[in-house]
Amino acid sequence: MPELPEVEMARRYLQDTSLHQTILSARIRDERILSGVTASRMEQALTGRQFECAMRHGKRLFLKLRDDLWLTLHLGLTGRLICLKNSQDESKHTRLLVIFENGSRLAFDDPRIFGEAGLAESPRLFLEERKIGPDALQQDLNGFLESMLGRRGLIKPALLNQRIVAGLGNLYADEALFQAGICPRARSLSVEQLTALFSSIQETLKASLAVNADLEKLPGSCLLPHRHPGGRCPLDGALLSREKIGGRTSYYCPTHQKTNKS
Ligand SMILES: [Zn+2]
Repeated sequence: MPELPEVEMARRYLQDTSLHQTILSARIRDERILSGVTASRMEQALTGRQFECAMRHGKRLFLKLRDDLWLTLHLGLTGRLICLKNSQDESKHTRLLVIFENGSRLAFDDPRIFGEAGLAESPRLFLEERKIGPDALQQDLNGFLESMLGRRGLIKPALLNQRIVAGLGNLYADEALFQAGICPRARSLSVEQLTALFSSIQETLKASLAVNADLEKLPGSCLLPHRHPGGRCPLDGALLSREKIGGRTSYYCPTHQKTNKS
């Protein structure tokens, strides 16, 4: 599932391929991709406009059509944006196709259709309506501490809660907890632990962006390259534990990731 780094790569891709070209037409290939908008309204909103800029907040993408109209995209589990070359055919999974006057086409493919395309007056209003919290890379330490201190639940589900921090999913939450030495089942973390976790979140996301979100290129000291059944902790060699926490499969090192306040 795309998380902040993958969605940021998609934003950069949009920026490189799809801005400042007049849209000839838009085709909705499958209405299930639409959220809160009809196919005809979506087609009408896009036709004749240009994408003026591409923004990202958490796992959401926003393409500006005019001052008070934005296309919103969420890649869901399997969504992907592809700029089709010349005569390249769209795939059978294309749900939304944007056709530019210069002949290029932007396809939003999504085999499982957990993604979304919609319209918003502004990113700010959209995020407020959805109660989406601060972007994981924009959030400051004080804001993070404020939203985390005093929470009694497990830390892992809190990290996945987009209302608290937007952009983390299952993989990067596991990585950040691993780097901070905190077990995903830990609760009531101390200020020191939360401060370490905040730093790990920043470092984890930046490390991924530095390798263009290609997990195989992450340093060997990261959890993610070892995050599979039978995988071992790259720091101390312990067999990684794998269990469902808050409904999501979690990997952690039973040796150096602690549950208790240190
Ligand atoms: Zn370990």
